[in-house]
Amino acid sequence: MRILITGGAGFIGSHLAEAYLESGAEVYVIDDLSTGSLNNINHLKENISYRGRLFIHIDSILNRELMLELVGTCDVVHHLAAAVGVEYILKNPLASITTNIQGSEIVLELCNKFKKRVLIASTSEVYGKHTHAPLIETDNIIYGPSSKFRWSYAASKLMDEFMALAYHRTTGLQVTVARLFNTVGPRQTGNYGMVIPRMVNQALKNQPLTVYGDGNQTRTFTYVKDVVWAFMRLVENSGAFGQVFNIGGIEEISILNLAKRIILASGSSSEIKLIPYDVAFGKDFEDMQRRVPSIEKINQLIGFNPQTFLDTILSEVIEYMRNRSIAN
Ligand code: UDP
Repeated sequence: MRILITGGAGFIGSHLAEAYLESGAEVYVIDDLSTGSLNNINHLKENISYRGRLFIHIDSILNRELMLELVGTCDVVHHLAAAVGVEYILKNPLASITTNIQGSEIVLELCNKFKKRVLIASTSEVYGKHTHAPLIETDNIIYGPSSKFRWSYAASKLMDEFMALAYHRTTGLQVTVARLFNTVGPRQTGNYGMVIPRMVNQALKNQPLTVYGDGNQTRTFTYVKDVVWAFMRLVENSGAFGQVFNIGGIEEISILNLAKRIILASGSSSEIKLIPYDVAFGKDFEDMQRRVPSIEKINQLIGFNPQTFLDTILSEVIEYMRNRSIAN
């Protein structure tokens, strides 16, 4: 089995690549290293049991010629290459829209041409600013105005979803959309805004943990290996074609409580510092106040039932970041 992973040097993509290599598959990675890093996959290159089964292309998914060759070669495509992270989107407003829309257009067009199965990684951000819980795949969507650029990410990923579903309806493309709820774990970087690696990094340096707003906003974090497990099963399951699925964890937590848990788990002497949103992101910023998934649909199809609790995830991330800072 040959698997193409766009964004395979990213945080989630590298875990997916590892799981497929472990299962005996050949893995093709394409990544432009805009937010991914070779550090995420170097250990895979060095592993002798994966020798001759990992092929890495440092290039953009907008390189259609290369994508034509890769999609033609592989049996299954996981499309994870995207501009991600609230901070990254706000700093790179145009590039993020281009990557997310044109990139997905190329992936879908070629998967359709070669009749390849494809999973599109979308995001819980597409739900917009709901406060009810849990969020169900068929819920309505509420966004802020186009002056608030955060929503460009949601809108561009929503357009990817529409494109994927339109291909399925018109040509029967075997495509599945997965909406991810705050995936976390080792190898995630805090450079683009993600809260857990940022705060763990602050805690390990005994610096103040920066909690934006009043810290009462909540998230439901999902362990990266649970996401990988779901991706591998969804893409194989004909009941998932033409469907959208939430992939999310089970423990809703406020960001303030998350900061407290990180301080406790890392044995840090850090304090917590509340930072108003406009100081952190400028005046045109809007946060999502609550984000909790319904995982009933994915549970019914593939038995998705994540068992990795936040304390376990935090210990892993803390250990990973400690070792990394020693190595640097
Ligand atoms: N956040 C925070 N401090 C940080 C980074 C993020 O309080 O240093 C908050 C952010 O405002 C949001 C939550 O943590 O409410 C999750 O942020 P992240 O960027 O990880 O993911 P999001 O769910 O916003 O896409």
